Amino acid sequence: MTTTLLHDATILTLDTRDTIIDGGYVLVRDDRIAEVGRGPYTGPAVPDRRVDCRDRLIAPGLVNAHTHSQSSTMAGFGDRMSHPAFMWLTQAHTSRRTPDEIRLSVLLTAYGLLTSGSTAAIDHFPGQRFSLADTDAVLSAWSETGVRVALGMRFFDGPFSDIFPTAPIPDDLKSRISEVELLKPQPYGELSDLMSATIRKWHGQPRLSVFPAPSNPDRCSDAALTLCAELAERHDTGIHTHLLETKKQQELAQGRYGTTMVRHLADLGVLSDRWSCAHSIWLTDDDIELMADRKATAVLNPESNSRIGTGLARAPLMHRRGVRLAVGTDGSSCNDNLVMHEAMRALATAHRSAEPDRTRWITAGEVLRMATAGGAGALRHDKLGAIAPGFIADLVVYRLDSPWWIPVNDIVSQLVFAETGASVETVMVDGRIVMENRKIQTFDAEALMQEVRSMTQSLRRRNADLFGVAHDIADFVP
Ligand SMILES: [Zn+2]
Repeated sequence: MTTTLLHDATILTLDTRDTIIDGGYVLVRDDRIAEVGRGPYTGPAVPDRRVDCRDRLIAPGLVNAHTHSQSSTMAGFGDRMSHPAFMWLTQAHTSRRTPDEIRLSVLLTAYGLLTSGSTAAIDHFPGQRFSLADTDAVLSAWSETGVRVALGMRFFDGPFSDIFPTAPIPDDLKSRISEVELLKPQPYGELSDLMSATIRKWHGQPRLSVFPAPSNPDRCSDAALTLCAELAERHDTGIHTHLLETKKQQELAQGRYGTTMVRHLADLGVLSDRWSCAHSIWLTDDDIELMADRKATAVLNPESNSRIGTGLARAPLMHRRGVRLAVGTDGSSCNDNLVMHEAMRALATAHRSAEPDRTRWITAGEVLRMATAGGAGALRHDKLGAIAPGFIADLVVYRLDSPWWIPVNDIVSQLVFAETGASVETVMVDGRIVMENRKIQTFDAEALMQEVRSMTQSLRRRNADLFGVAHDIADFVP
């Protein structure tokens, strides 16, 4: 048994009473918070470790409830692209990776998460057909980082209808696209074996869970969606997906099912509280009611949506109707960094100018709850997202000498509206310090930089054909 005492801290507990402690302590025993109190600790425990938190804030770790480890190497790619063009470019960069390259991308993702105050994430991985070697590589890498992760095994057994050109294209380009094997539907039987095997092997390992995760429900057969719900029931997992990110996806669902995608999932009997649905932009009022009724979570990604112009989720309406909400940055291919503070800020502010009724604005406090307890719900964890006895010790220590914290006026508002992630100093996950004084303790972040550089050069060469397709197709998917 190990105990750690964080003392002399300002503590934002986000407990049921919204307690803020000025000058207090958190006692952590193994992976759990044992005690939270005011003043100096005077109890009987003899801590193995003490962390001096004078002029520091301790807050619950943030949960980045939608990202993609495979695209962490893509910051700055392709400005002003359509969603399909961006998807083809992402394919070019993230395909045909070796297990070592998958690991490097995970470490880079973990580096981005920890240095900006996220202790947990949902990794929707990969972007193409996958194998057991791929899921082994990604999950063993996450295990190495010390970050808490739900791996959403991203699958599809149907075509990516939303990104293929609808207008005629030159024969040469057509044949080059047909040679791209990566997006060919993965057979149902293969998916069933693969997802079952990965869940059995990894789900429930320390800090790890594994969710079946449609790439997008409209890229999946009804049989595959039903399989996904059955697996989730059998192994008690969540289900993660992209949902209605683009208007095109809304139209495809209407054409295919004669109703909305959300209604179709409900009619299939699969929509439940297990689902966490990234984007959730093109929902009807009825869809919003259904999401609330079935207790499904919408994971909002406001920066990604602005960056590639896919739309603005109706967050205030969803919030009023009682839809469970969480926050994600999305991958670096469409949001460049993994800073949850920026995502929270965007979510709390993007709707304000168009909403004259200020009582409908999402507040800093509400968005912070979405990024902590809301994300914990998407991870299906009820003892995460607050600093209270019995909760898992996923904590972040922020320095309060950054310019935007001087003076401390309102901790919640400053954490959401002012913090950039740069004040994050020390991070604890599962009771273990994984970053201390901004130095990652679980892997060599300095060596990572050089390794990622050479990896991206080699990917450029290896996937030259895919980069060519991505470049040439852009004109036909405006
Ligand atoms: Zn995504």
